[in-house]
Amino acid sequence: MSGETPAAPTRRVLLKLSGEALVGQSGYGIDPEVLDYVACEIVAAVADIPDAPRIELGIVVGGGNIFRGLSASARGTDRATADYMGMLATVMNAVALSDALEKHGVVTRVLSAIEMSQLAEPYIRRRAMRHLEKGRVCIFAAGTGNPFFTTDTAAALRAMEVGAEVLLKGTKVAGVYDKDPAKHADARRYHRVSFTEALEKDLRVMDATAFALCRDNDLPIVVFDMTESGSIRRVVRGADIGTMITTSAQETRFAEV
Ligand code: UDP
Repeated sequence: MSGETPAAPTRRVLLKLSGEALVGQSGYGIDPEVLDYVACEIVAAVADIPDAPRIELGIVVGGGNIFRGLSASARGTDRATADYMGMLATVMNAVALSDALEKHGVVTRVLSAIEMSQLAEPYIRRRAMRHLEKGRVCIFAAGTGNPFFTTDTAAALRAMEVGAEVLLKGTKVAGVYDKDPAKHADARRYHRVSFTEALEKDLRVMDATAFALCRDNDLPIVVFDMTESGSIRRVVRGADIGTMITTSAQETRFAEV
């Protein structure tokens, strides 16, 4: 018996936000009101609740609201160069989100996969883990630091590196459907689906690299509607919302309508 107080239980999760999550009416860039709304949702998600596990939150933010490598390369920019520009866009979003969260009193750290020491720490895995243990929200910027990847892949990678128990992908729809819900009125949402079935049915949960990383390393993914107020808090706390993609082949079932 050491006589030490046992450490409080924690729940470590990784939240993936697309750059699109920060866009307003204009469809481009960062809308200050939307940014503040998202920040408030995150503030509520990490707020301590008596007797509930403390939340350790990592966030990977995309850059599609500012710059996408693939679109720029289709217009003639060299693909790798365009992807580096895309990664820089994610840094802008990360710094903006960090600022918005800090305004609400949440301590954050931006860790960038591309070194830019004047405005972010370099991404160092063990340092990220220490920040998370101390309750700081870690915002992982610049994707994986490599062209030809996406921030979905960065999210899967960081989630595994820091030992997150689940990857939470915030979207504008309620989860994963058997058909595109925007085009088919009879589209059904999965409540749970296995990686194998998602692959067989080409459900496009995340890009192929991110998906394979999660599947091969048993990292569950939850796809949820982040536009619904309180959904980030609920999903971070483990509420059964959206669609969960897991390894278990027995799990597939649709959500009740
Ligand atoms: N990107 C990259 N490597 C990475 C992550 C991102 O090259 O590891 C580039 C890529 O050009 C991508 C852009 O950054 O189009 C923005 O990221 P993403 O499209 O994933 O953002 P989101 O769609 O989530 O907003």
